[in-house]
Amino acid sequence: MGTCRLLDELVRRDAQSRYEITVFGEERGGAYNRILLGKVLAGEAPDSIVTKTPEWYDAHGIRLTSSTQVKRLDTRRKVVETADGQSRRYDIAVLATGSQPLVPPLEGMLGEDGELRPGVFVYRTIGDCIRMREYVRPGDSAVVLGGGLLGLESAKVLSDLGLHVTVVQSAKILMNAQLDEIGGEMLARQIERSGIFARLGRTVEAVYGEERVGGVVLDDGTSLPADLVVLACGVRPRVDAARASGLPVNKGILVNDTLATEVPGVYAFGECAEHRGKTYGIVAPVWEQAAVLADVLSGTNPQDRYRGSKLYTRLKVAGVDVAAMGTLEPELETDQVVQIVEERRDAYRKLIIRDERLVGAMLVGNTAATATLVQLFDRGDKIPEDPLELLCQLRESAPSGARIVCNCHKVSEGALREAIAAGADSMPALCDATKAGTGCGSCKGELAQLINSQPKKPNPLQLLAAG
Ligand SMILES: Cc1cc2nc3c(=O)[nH]c(=O)nc-3n(C[C@H](O)[C@H](O)[C@H](O)COP(=O)(O)OP(=O)(O)OC[C@H]3O[C@@H](n4cnc5c(N)ncnc54)[C@H](O)[C@@H]3O)c2cc1C
Repeated sequence: MGTCRLLDELVRRDAQSRYEITVFGEERGGAYNRILLGKVLAGEAPDSIVTKTPEWYDAHGIRLTSSTQVKRLDTRRKVVETADGQSRRYDIAVLATGSQPLVPPLEGMLGEDGELRPGVFVYRTIGDCIRMREYVRPGDSAVVLGGGLLGLESAKVLSDLGLHVTVVQSAKILMNAQLDEIGGEMLARQIERSGIFARLGRTVEAVYGEERVGGVVLDDGTSLPADLVVLACGVRPRVDAARASGLPVNKGILVNDTLATEVPGVYAFGECAEHRGKTYGIVAPVWEQAAVLADVLSGTNPQDRYRGSKLYTRLKVAGVDVAAMGTLEPELETDQVVQIVEERRDAYRKLIIRDERLVGAMLVGNTAATATLVQLFDRGDKIPEDPLELLCQLRESAPSGARIVCNCHKVSEGALREAIAAGADSMPALCDATKAGTGCGSCKGELAQLINSQPKKPNPLQLLAAG
């Protein structure tokens, strides 16, 4: 996804006049929206999530070498070496190798060939989804290891396919990286109500079965029968090619504020990169990095710098709206916490305020205030004196043009209204014109509302017909 965005940013800055660009990708075909993999797991054609077709690369004079793994860079000779024996000279190399799923070293996880035992799957690529989809049948049972975003998303898709699904989560709450105890409990109740079982505070100790998976054993000794085991226990940066090239690597490939590694001519960004001690696991920072890198490499703004990202997530987890940003809990004695708990609706809103500024927020089940909270959090603006009132007013307040609707692409309501007024008054046209809705897609409901609420530009053909 990072490379896809970098290419867009480079093309926008006419970088092809300066560089001949080649993309090496281990996966088949061009770029796709990984965030929408759930659709492929649910049965949609992989093409439905493709963001760059081979024609796009051709049309922009960019060479795509797909199904090709880069083994290493010979940084002294400035040559890319691929696993299938190709080599190609470069002036500048950019590594955007992403992350790989963590495979816990559990007894029985691997088959005799050292590969994952049949029936055990990771969830990262189109290939993973197709293999999983071909394997499952309605009525099968699945155990998902991990109650974070990916675990819950895969659980929901499998449950909708007719499987009996249990999520096993070592933490006592679901999505513990984004939610506190109350938020996690609200989410768990809604998840269980949707037909998915959750075993919280439990770990899987072993996988059993003959040739294929038959089930898992938990740390309390109970066993859960399973035809399918999905590993969603986290990711770690993919640094194999960087290591083989002798680049400095810690958790991720070490980069500075220009996204450069210590080796001249070699850059890294996205989930594989470590910047100021941080690696990221969501797409917004990857896109911010891509914009800076394009500025630097194209020469459009060589002084642009990446200073780190403020993280916020807005997701639909297994049908439940969740938004989270900043810190989960108060960190200083003077931090102020405002909570609204709606037990009957399993809805929860929480703000953490420091020095009259928002340093954290989480919303479960009722996310209407997200866009305004993100704006306050992102800009560090002062919040009104009575924060509770603020939270309530936000739901009713008239939306302002500067309000960000698409958080992935930072598209404001004003920009969307302008695009609609200029004729982009259908969902595909609006997404195309503004990029809004093409990230995680969670803002599409709001886009539809904006399209419907705005008076349409009269179509001259319709006027003629009417006349
Ligand atoms: C199922 C799923 C749902 C997600 N949902 C969300 C969401 O709702 N919101 C959100 O913000 N984020 C989400 N994410 C995370 C988001 O997809 C990532 O943040 C984003 O893809 C990272 O982009 P990247 O370019 O760094 O890595 P990737 O998109 O992983 O791309 C890296 C590419 O490099 C290739 N590669 C690696 N090594 C080599 C090599 N040596 N040679 C050639 N090619 C190589 C890989 O095969 C891969 O195609 C989700 C992820 C998954 C898996």
